[in-house]
Amino acid sequence: MRYSYEFKKKCVEMYRSGVYPDTPDGISQVCFRSKVRNWVRTEEALGSEALEPKHTHKQWLPDEKYALVCQVLTGKSYLEVAIHNGVKDSVLRNWVRKYKSMALHDERLLKSRIANLVIYEEMQHQKEKHKGQRYRWLPSSAKEPEPEHQLLYGKIFNYGEGDADGNMPGERYGCQCGIEWLD
Ligand SMILES: [Zn+2]
Repeated sequence: MRYSYEFKKKCVEMYRSGVYPDTPDGISQVCFRSKVRNWVRTEEALGSEALEPKHTHKQWLPDEKYALVCQVLTGKSYLEVAIHNGVKDSVLRNWVRKYKSMALHDERLLKSRIANLVIYEEMQHQKEKHKGQRYRWLPSSAKEPEPEHQLLYGKIFNYGEGDADGNMPGERYGCQCGIEWLD
């Protein structure tokens, strides 16, 4: 069933005020209530625009998929990653499953991906350590640095800011950009 934006918004408001909306026909109460809680989390994470039905289905590039798979592999929950990135968690589960079986059959791929995973993990670790600090974006050590990131070299950012997708250096798959913490 497709729910309208207005309906979802009303459900979120009701949930916040402490009552569940009545369960519509054609869906069990358990399923409906879990949908409502999902809408609440989505709205909290991304604002109410995120409740609008998506008419255009985003095409995910392999690197973008992998970046999300990485987040799951480094310990974030499926639901958390799914909600923050506007992808269904069943779709995400599929990507992780495919990735795991692919990695098992391609050692070279596995090695390069592990290298990227380590960079990603290290970045998450650094973020914990330097929470709230400003940073300078340093050039990438990748063979083919992303042109979009090259424009950011040397610039100074506040903690949490990053490229157009909100990634800090090293967070995007294959990026390998460096970071210098300031303050
Ligand atoms: Zn980069």
